[in-house]
Amino acid sequence: MAEHESLEFGKADFVLLDSVSLDEFMANLKLRFEKGRIYSYIGEVVVSVNPYRAMNIYGRDTIEQYKGRELYERPPHLFAIADAAYKAMKRRNKDTCIVISGESGAGKTEASKYIMQYIAAITNPSQRAEVERVKNMLLKSNCVLEAFGNAKTNRNDNSSRFGKYMDINFDFKGDPIGGHINNYLLEKSRVIFQQEGERSFHSFYQVSEGLTTDIKKLFLFCQLFQTPDKSHQTCSSINDSADFKAVTDAMKVIGFTTEEIQTVYKILATILHLGNLKFGSDGDVTLIENSKLVSVLGDLLSTKDENVEKALLYRTVATGRDVIDKQHTHQEASYGRDALAKAIYERLFCWIVGRINDVIEVKNYDARVHGKNTVIGVLDIYGFEIFQNNSFEQFCINYCNEKLQQLFIQLVLKQEQEEYQREGIPWKHIDYFNNQIIVDLVEQQHKGIFAVLDEACMNVGKVTDEMFLQALNGKLAKHAHYTSRKLSPTDKNLEFDRDFRIRHYAGDVVYSVVGFIDKNKDTLFQDFKRLLYNSSNPVLKAMWPEGKLSITEVTKRPLTAATLFKNSMISLVENLASKEPYYVRCIKPNDVKSPLLFEHERCKHQVEYLGLLENVRVRRAGFANRQTYPRFLQRYKMISEFTWPNHDLPSDKEAVERLLQGCGFEHDVAYGKTKVFIRTPRTIFSLEEQRAEM
Ligand code: ATP
Ligand code: MG
Repeated sequence: MAEHESLEFGKADFVLLDSVSLDEFMANLKLRFEKGRIYSYIGEVVVSVNPYRAMNIYGRDTIEQYKGRELYERPPHLFAIADAAYKAMKRRNKDTCIVISGESGAGKTEASKYIMQYIAAITNPSQRAEVERVKNMLLKSNCVLEAFGNAKTNRNDNSSRFGKYMDINFDFKGDPIGGHINNYLLEKSRVIFQQEGERSFHSFYQVSEGLTTDIKKLFLFCQLFQTPDKSHQTCSSINDSADFKAVTDAMKVIGFTTEEIQTVYKILATILHLGNLKFGSDGDVTLIENSKLVSVLGDLLSTKDENVEKALLYRTVATGRDVIDKQHTHQEASYGRDALAKAIYERLFCWIVGRINDVIEVKNYDARVHGKNTVIGVLDIYGFEIFQNNSFEQFCINYCNEKLQQLFIQLVLKQEQEEYQREGIPWKHIDYFNNQIIVDLVEQQHKGIFAVLDEACMNVGKVTDEMFLQALNGKLAKHAHYTSRKLSPTDKNLEFDRDFRIRHYAGDVVYSVVGFIDKNKDTLFQDFKRLLYNSSNPVLKAMWPEGKLSITEVTKRPLTAATLFKNSMISLVENLASKEPYYVRCIKPNDVKSPLLFEHERCKHQVEYLGLLENVRVRRAGFANRQTYPRFLQRYKMISEFTWPNHDLPSDKEAVERLLQGCGFEHDVAYGKTKVFIRTPRTIFSLEEQRAEM
């Protein structure tokens, strides 16, 4: 019996539980966690519990133990799933993907990094320089992306505030030759506001701590803004100045030029200064109170001070044929300033991703000569979030998790059961909660929440968040997964008139409607775009190509944030669905980052909403492997005298039956209309062994 099956550590695969109940599942999960066995399987799905301590299970020796082995030969591990995805890709020329899910702090990003490290470690045995270069870039890119896209939140000191999907491309030998990163919706509002106890993106603290005083002066650095309590800025698990060095080194290795890196500093400094910029009024006239900052900003942005001042206080509007400068009200000026700070950070982030992509994208690969290049995609996207205050960002993030859950249902629960039915395999249907209804609630055309939001944003004149909420109430009053304070006035969880609640698959979330309209419109005055485009800093200028247009040339209304996000999610899911998926389901054992505490209720809730029990049931009732009869014969006919080199039975189906009877496996298989179904992986494994011995 393999080491991992020792009962002392519980069942390595939940499929092997004596009976499938939530209690048994939880008992096994807890036992394994307490014994330091943080990984388990449900068939080929990895269940991971965040250990909140350094584990000695990711080293070179462990990698060697998993390399090229079958899933069931070794104790459950991320490396095994990475190897399975890699083998599937290499052997069968298939694109695969690894989808990592779980709530904030559950360990998704750490898992994605171990997976990438594993893949890097097992490839390129011949040490080709170009492949080594690509691998190094892929690994280094993480560090840069985390600096600019992660932040300390109340859930996680290193919380990803953007979604990341990374493709790794492989050549015909199975060595990495490039990659591509897609990033999704950065939580840019963090630049101007952080909840109590949270920080802005790491990058701001890194430059503040890491740059020498001289260089800081050179780049006109200032104090961090909006963090009155300095204790928020420091965090014991984070070393900003060491990270700063690592990030700068990584940027250099990736190939950012000195000018580019300096522009990055300047942009960070600009944002910090914008945070200190205050507006006042003199009668009807809006003024900049600390006007010295204007010239600081002018310097940082390499543009004339008067242009900065004008963009902050006026906007150009086209009235009929005339173009006039309209003064901002105090409120408009503040809105403009914040929008500018958010926009330049977001643009910086996307530009960094783009620069990394330039460097890692596959070059000089001729598919006609070398065959198709295949891909492993790794998805590490923000987990389901329920905060004290939930706004537009949480709404998008949670919608994203609904989409991924739907994909999981489609691929793992639904398709599986449909196939058994189609093939006429005796099958007792297993119930699961299908969250399609919530996906529709959000994304359906004309009726969904995004559509209602977009419609509200299209209206001319002043549209308020309250009007949007009214529209939602009108359209969705009867929806089982939607309610609001207005619709359920006695509900204690809906404290304020501005609240609405969605019953997500993972639990109820109350959203405050405040800010939805502005965040969805995401307006950045054209004047700012022009200001940045006209900068004499070529790096900055290149980030703002649309600044070229004058106000009269800007005709198209830009897509709203919700529409952009929805479209990006739809194409993400399409992309994942086109690949062979592998799943890692991460569980966060407690809220206090303790390596010892297994909070039962907390974990149970996650097991429930991740649908893990249903997963076990489907898997147990189901079959690990299936192949069409001809394909099965093609692979295994040599192990039976009845089928080698050819069989004379009336059909391939009967030949397969005969072959499997001969091996004594008939109890472990079922014969469908076109495919043979094999229950346990061990049978396949044994067939493979016999084949290898021939
Ligand atoms: P978010 O959705 O907020 O980005 P996440 O799921 O990506 O969360 P991680 O950042 O991967 O969460 O993990 C949070 C923290 O938990 C890590 O910073 C680390 O301290 C700890 N952790 C996670 N996985 C492991 C592991 N395998 N070994 C040791 N510590 C871990
Ligand atoms: Mg993360």
